[in-house]
Amino acid sequence: MKALIKDTPARGGTFTDRLTPKIGKDDLLVKVRAAAICGTDIHIYQWNEYASSRIRLPLLFGHEYSAEVVDVGKNVTNFRIGDRVAAETHVPCGHCYQCTTGLQHVCKDMKILGVHMDGAFSEFAVLPAVCAWKLDPAISYEIGATMEPFGIGVHAISKTKPAGKKVIVFGCGPIGIYAQMVAKFSGAEYVIGVDVSKERLDLAKRMGTDIVLDAKTVNVVDEVDKITKGFGIDIVVELTGNKAVVNDATKTLRRGGDVVLVGLYSGSVEWDLVNNVIYKEANVYGVTGRIMWDSWWTAQGILLSGKIDTSPVITPYFELKEFDKALQLAESASTGKIVFKIG
Ligand SMILES: [Zn+2]
Ligand SMILES: [Zn+2]
Repeated sequence: MKALIKDTPARGGTFTDRLTPKIGKDDLLVKVRAAAICGTDIHIYQWNEYASSRIRLPLLFGHEYSAEVVDVGKNVTNFRIGDRVAAETHVPCGHCYQCTTGLQHVCKDMKILGVHMDGAFSEFAVLPAVCAWKLDPAISYEIGATMEPFGIGVHAISKTKPAGKKVIVFGCGPIGIYAQMVAKFSGAEYVIGVDVSKERLDLAKRMGTDIVLDAKTVNVVDEVDKITKGFGIDIVVELTGNKAVVNDATKTLRRGGDVVLVGLYSGSVEWDLVNNVIYKEANVYGVTGRIMWDSWWTAQGILLSGKIDTSPVITPYFELKEFDKALQLAESASTGKIVFKIG
């Protein structure tokens, strides 16, 4: 099969022929239909510290995807050949405290598809059946491949009660835009999106965000103060992973508001906790991945409601062999979700 793998500890990737993988008793063999590029894939492509400290080569990368089941392992009873699926990328062990108390998504021994085990930038992939989500017939493979990042936006907003509230999301990458859409869908009074990319701010606006702020040209804290007439924001969602943003983000918060931290910072962060959290009695939530399967059910329900259309967030499509172009574009942090159409 054709596959995009990482086989050398340097920048880049290799588009090559590989044997179709064999599945274990608890796995599905799937024919990949669409696979989206995630920040993690950019790390792997660049071969930065994040990638080199975690990954053993060679690795088939890519983990946000949808596919058709073409074979099922001996122990698998709930999937059949021909089923359409999307992949949950956090593979739980099934036995630890978290896995046995409904917190599989923060499993103590969690493995991640396309990081600790082979992923899916390929014609076929192995998907542990425990991580397969049956796609509703009304959801396309393309949208199916983005349900994983969409699910993070859903999970982030689900920590809060956005109806009638002022929401700000720092970061207008795909997950940021998804979070903004979910906040709007959930009845927010208004949603503000912040980024430094004009393209991404335009996209956020097109997708229904009420106010977009370019942090390169305006002072976001002052601007939010004006917009809320000094009231402050009820719900702050931080998705940039930029250490310099955390304090400003939480300065916009009203006392007693909610802060949802999703973006990943490299190294520790200097955060004025006394003024931004303790004196404000802020509720701080950390969010990683998606709740299995609560976030997926909610994501599906929102998509099936017909009230929002996430398809314009996918810009643009590529073929797998155009991976250099696709990953370099992803690096520029100026587009929506980039998706490979496969098979
Ligand atoms: Zn991802
Ligand atoms: Zn576990």
